[in-house]
Amino acid sequence: MMEIVQGDITTLNVDAIVNAANASLLGGGGVDGCIHRGAGPKLVAKCATLGGCKTGDAKITPGYNLPAKYVIHTVGPVWHGGKKGEPDLLASCYRRSLELTVEHGLRTIAFPSISTGVYRYPKDRACDIAVETVSAFLERHEEIEKVIFVCFSQEDFSLYREATL
Ligand code: ADP
Repeated sequence: MMEIVQGDITTLNVDAIVNAANASLLGGGGVDGCIHRGAGPKLVAKCATLGGCKTGDAKITPGYNLPAKYVIHTVGPVWHGGKKGEPDLLASCYRRSLELTVEHGLRTIAFPSISTGVYRYPKDRACDIAVETVSAFLERHEEIEKVIFVCFSQEDFSLYREATL
């Protein structure tokens, strides 16, 4: 099932939360900064051993001091107008994160709205891709119990509510 909540993803007690990371995996602003603050310094130390991450791909680490057991770090595309493969890359972020969830036997996962902050992906289009990609994946993977879309703003919450009706 899919669920929408408004709030801070770092407070969620789920098997995995997804981080909208950058390619270095060494931390940044936005949700990335919040996740590293919540997890503590062991997270950046672990991330430093992973060799970065390509746009559209994902890597998994423990959650350390977070309530979530794992963090799945994915790198969304920077929005350059939509003709540089952004939609496929964004869909790939959701798919690769869910593949790692299945590979690790995890059942509950929470996503932020990847790429819609500093990376400027239009929020409505990003929301449609998130919901379509996740629902297609869930049709084929009953072992995932719950996917939570975490909306940081009221505007995001409304978009996700529309898209999941
Ligand atoms: P990106 O670089 O992929 O655009 P950002 O972190 O700048 O990543 O933004 C991604 C989304 O995460 C934005 O919609 C932003 O409002 C949201 N966000 C920021 N902090 C949090 C948080 N603590 N929990 C959930 N979402 C958050």
